[in-house]
Amino acid sequence: MTSADVIIIGGGIVGSSIAYHLTEAGCRDVIVLERETHQGKGSTGKSMGGVRAQFSTQVNIRMSLYSIPFFAAFDEVMGHPSGYRPQGYLFVATRQSHLEYLAENYRQQVAAGLKALCQLSPADVSRLAPELRTDDVLGGSFCPTDGFVDPHSVMTGFMLKAMERGVQLLREAEVTGIARDAHGVCGVQTSQGLLSTRTVVNAAGAWAGQVARLAGVDLPVEPLRRMLVPTEPFEKISHASPMVVDMSTGFHYRPEGRGVLLAWNDPEESPGFKLNFDRGFIEKVLTRGVDRVPCLEEAEVNPKRAWAGLYEMTPDHHPVLGAVTGLPGFYLANGFSGHGVMHSPATGRILADLILKGSCDLVDTSLLGFDRFAAGRLLHETAVL
Ligand SMILES: Cc1cc2nc3c(=O)[nH]c(=O)nc-3n(C[C@H](O)[C@H](O)[C@H](O)COP(=O)(O)OP(=O)(O)OC[C@H]3O[C@@H](n4cnc5c(N)ncnc54)[C@H](O)[C@@H]3O)c2cc1C
Repeated sequence: MTSADVIIIGGGIVGSSIAYHLTEAGCRDVIVLERETHQGKGSTGKSMGGVRAQFSTQVNIRMSLYSIPFFAAFDEVMGHPSGYRPQGYLFVATRQSHLEYLAENYRQQVAAGLKALCQLSPADVSRLAPELRTDDVLGGSFCPTDGFVDPHSVMTGFMLKAMERGVQLLREAEVTGIARDAHGVCGVQTSQGLLSTRTVVNAAGAWAGQVARLAGVDLPVEPLRRMLVPTEPFEKISHASPMVVDMSTGFHYRPEGRGVLLAWNDPEESPGFKLNFDRGFIEKVLTRGVDRVPCLEEAEVNPKRAWAGLYEMTPDHHPVLGAVTGLPGFYLANGFSGHGVMHSPATGRILADLILKGSCDLVDTSLLGFDRFAAGRLLHETAVL
């Protein structure tokens, strides 16, 4: 029977980063199992690619402070492009409560070591995004090292480097069972046969709950549909624009190719494996968009180019990272709640450290453990897009 020191279930950006980080720490006997014919068919290939350190909790900020410099150095270290474009994230405040919220986040972010962050006046906001309607804008915040990456390219770069060092990627290998014995996990049943191992990592994205159930673990990760609408080529918004977030509605956009990528998280969306794009969403996103960016009235949209993907939500919008108490050898890297691309480098490092050393000093990993749900120790991230 084939065996490996570590088996990773899921070949998206998270599984690929974990594989790379394991090899970086010297562990090369690793198999990644991906049920699709190729990588990137899960959420990674659907992502908006935003990366930011502007979060409200220390743990999320610290994960970004590891990940963003990692993306900046990626091309040199991996020999593969990350597509990192440090064009910034601009949060636009229209209420006093938004300003207070940004000021508190600013304190948290500076305390964590973020240096480049600025709090903005309405005039600063207009200067950074001249296309905005600003009559009700009270201010904002901007971090120039935030920006975007190419998620597919990052995933590929991680996996190519890991494979160069001996990691095996098995495609069309669906995991259908996880075997356990008196010592913990002992193997994985796949559509290509049984593999033996003492360490299994669940990196199955929005499907993580199903995979956890195979090991008898009840993981609170739910799929939630998110939709994105690209415009046709559009010259009225600069291609050097930051990601702009209108805090009054949650509408956000960024340049993409020769056009603009439009996003809005519909609060009426309900959990489920819904992967169809709903054409009714175009009117919803454009209504919010034109309200804040009047020139978008002139933008053309082709519904056939719009798409839907799945966020993997936890009850507190923080990931679940690390071992499962009571099931030795079973590790979770799940529930990124919309931030799995930007936090993939930190996640890879944290999982490699936890698997190989039993601890990680990058963040306080006890905050992100699976047992927090049963103990009611939830963390709340409010800066979720
Ligand atoms: C519209 C949209 C916009 C987003 N925007 C951003 C953003 O701006 N910034 C950001 O950081 N994040 C963003 N995200 C979230 C981000 O895309 C995800 O958090 C991230 O891709 C998760 O990566 P993953 O590797 O865990 O999951 P995935 O990429 O989904 O990979 C999981 C893999 O596991 C495989 N799998 C599942 N079950 C099994 C099984 N039983 N056996 C074998 N293989 C299995 C799947 O086929 C899949 O390839 C966005 C997501 C969406 C949908």
